[in-house]
Amino acid sequence: MTESVNPCSLHALTLEDLERGLVNLKQPSYRAKQIMEWTYSREKRVETWEEMSNLPATLRSMLASSHPIRLPEVITVSGSNDTTRKFLLRLHDGELIETVLIPASPALYGEESDRRTLCVSSQVGCAYGCKFCASGLDGWKRHLSADEIVSQVLLAERVSGERINNLVFMGMGEPMANYNNWLQAVKILNAPWGIGLGARKMTVSTSGLVPRIRDLADQPLQIRLAISLHGASDEVRSQIMPVNKKHPVAELMDACAYYADRKKQMITFEYILIEGVNDDLSEARLLADRARGLRAKINLIPYNTVEGLPWKRPSESAQEGFLSILRDRGIAATIRREKGHDIDAACGQLRRRISSPDPSCSETPAMS
Ligand code: SAH
Ligand code: SF4
Repeated sequence: MTESVNPCSLHALTLEDLERGLVNLKQPSYRAKQIMEWTYSREKRVETWEEMSNLPATLRSMLASSHPIRLPEVITVSGSNDTTRKFLLRLHDGELIETVLIPASPALYGEESDRRTLCVSSQVGCAYGCKFCASGLDGWKRHLSADEIVSQVLLAERVSGERINNLVFMGMGEPMANYNNWLQAVKILNAPWGIGLGARKMTVSTSGLVPRIRDLADQPLQIRLAISLHGASDEVRSQIMPVNKKHPVAELMDACAYYADRKKQMITFEYILIEGVNDDLSEARLLADRARGLRAKINLIPYNTVEGLPWKRPSESAQEGFLSILRDRGIAATIRREKGHDIDAACGQLRRRISSPDPSCSETPAMS
């Protein structure tokens, strides 16, 4: 593991971290529960130490210097025609990240569905350089700390006034390359004293960092795994995903099998359809074989345009042709109709620079 957990900011701490810190300060450990209640309970969610009125003032000022509250600043909220909202956040060092709130699709989940998914970023930029993705275009800048990951949920809930009940780690960056901080954040998001979101309501997507997939398989959390596959053969995958040279498809499939077996879970393969690159029907047949071996589901994603990249999505009939090869072979497969395309908030469209503003769909965030 290359990066370490920085437990400095309050939102990067677990209850146990805080209890240990209090004991070191010769304070009663029950204060930790009080602090978490102020921080995460939906009635409170305070953003300053001063507001934690049942803590002694001396303790508050000690903790304010050892564990500052450091929330990013919400710069803009863009609304898409399909009601997807994209939040642009500025971090303490000026770096920008995006997080996207996606409402339930009545077409997929029924009119009554109250599913509200947040697509969370894990790094500033991305080092993996997949040829089709905007997030890697400007390179990798740094990992997000655990509190910067947790804050995305807090801020999206604060600004939207809605409760998020589904998380996908499919924003900017490679969560598995920031494994320690990301896992610390997941623990806080999952904990009953934290955000309280069930691990089964969280999906982590990875381009295929095999050792980390195995590490996560050995964790008790029932978090869901999605693999950005995008090619079923090494020949096709290596062309568009440099990570495949380090962890080729067969090695990746073994790690997926290990994960599925340890968690007793179905995993998902994400497969972008890019015209003339990975949409050949021979690739569909191989993809079906890979998925059958693992009993994996497949999400086909018609390629989303990225400014500056030459790729195109195949025609709808070519997409359907690819899908029917999978379905004819008994594979659970769907074509994901993207949301937020008009505000560059769809998969692979998040990047480190501010997208050109569209005054008709921007609104000033309601700061509370
Ligand atoms: N780094 C992780 C997490 C980011 S998830 C990963 O790659 O899995 C972002 C998802 O969007 C990935 O499945 C990625 O492959 C997909 N994606 C990237 N560029 C895209 C594009 N132009 N169109 C559609 N999907 C894209
Ligand atoms: Fe990074 Fe994932 Fe984009 Fe590849 S697809 S560049 S791993 S964010």
